[in-house]
Amino acid sequence: MARLGIVKVRGERDVNTYVLSSGAGGEAVVIDPSAPPEKVLAQLKGLDERWIVATHGHPGHLAGKDALKAATGATTAMHMADAKAFLRSADR
Ligand SMILES: [Zn+2]
Repeated sequence: MARLGIVKVRGERDVNTYVLSSGAGGEAVVIDPSAPPEKVLAQLKGLDERWIVATHGHPGHLAGKDALKAATGATTAMHMADAKAFLRSADR
């Protein structure tokens, strides 16, 4: 049985990003993709990143999302209420 891996990455704006994985060579989920994305990507070496999940829509929690998605092709997810607020603010 694979061992669950949890790594905390300290991002900008005091945001903690977590990389959960199903062990070496397994699948991974990134929770709250902060910047800089390079710091998060370094923790994803050898892993198959499947999901990028934001716990809420504050900009610091999403700062590394686009770069992470471009690098890994992972699917992004957040609660609908936060997604609506985030999209509204992005249109201004
Ligand atoms: Zn926040």
